[in-house]
Amino acid sequence: MISGGIDLGGTKIEARLFGPDLETLDMRRTATPTQDFAGFIAGLADQVRWLEDRSGAGKALPVGVGLPGLVDPQTGQAFAANIPVSGHDLPGALADALGRPVPLINDCLAFALSEAHSGAGAGARSVIGLIMGTGIGAGHALDGALPHRRNGSALEVGHIGLPAHALLAHDLPLRDCGCGRRGCYEAYVSGPGLAWLAAQWLGEPVAAPELARRAAEGDAGATAALELWATLAGELLLALQLSHDPDCIVLGGGLSQMPGVEDRLAAALDRTRLGTMRPPVIRIARHGDSSGARGAALHARAQLTSGNTR
Ligand SMILES: [Zn+2]
Repeated sequence: MISGGIDLGGTKIEARLFGPDLETLDMRRTATPTQDFAGFIAGLADQVRWLEDRSGAGKALPVGVGLPGLVDPQTGQAFAANIPVSGHDLPGALADALGRPVPLINDCLAFALSEAHSGAGAGARSVIGLIMGTGIGAGHALDGALPHRRNGSALEVGHIGLPAHALLAHDLPLRDCGCGRRGCYEAYVSGPGLAWLAAQWLGEPVAAPELARRAAEGDAGATAALELWATLAGELLLALQLSHDPDCIVLGGGLSQMPGVEDRLAAALDRTRLGTMRPPVIRIARHGDSSGARGAALHARAQLTSGNTR
């Protein structure tokens, strides 16, 4: 089945047309209209129509949209930080513009779904996709499908608090988080969190690629900062294991690009292991930049089969 997926971001709307084996047939990126909701809907609908036209299937083409935010499954009301949709009925407005409903999905859930299908999580029944970048978010795919979630939300693990024992053991302060709370994982183990940790040793914030390069060259401060980051991120992996006991955790986002990060995190998780629990396999995402659109297309196919439209 041919299908389309859209990866919606704060700066670009990426539309991908996929063949039967989810291979990319064509792709088009446009800038995200951020001025107002009406302009945003027009820009998004234009990308869906491009997919419809390009496929030759018109409105019969399954198309899914992945977005960095939340759409209430009951009211359609959207909430997102970087796109002008909050408080609006996003699926309703998009359906009005297109003359048909198009399913929407949180981008972390799309990532997990994509990697569970012929991705780094292939062959595993329970797959968690963990995105570590500017923010921290995750999704869970079970037997190749997304379990029902009351709010349609990602696994918002970035906004769970880092355990007090980890803060105390490393003499770390409670940092403010973008969500309005304090001490969230995101404040320590996201890209900005890692840069902040690096400043404790290096005197200034150092971004992940540069930090990884310095550590590879034997810089003791950079290595220490990366090790503490891995220890704290290991606590997050442990929380995911204790709550979900997955077969596989697939890492995505900018921090997953650091060389050897999967081994560093697997070692950190091993140090915190509970009893005789076998650890999940930790892998790096296979589909990289296309995972958001790919997962959205998979979601649209699944909705078509189930008869759902949201
Ligand atoms: Zn938070």
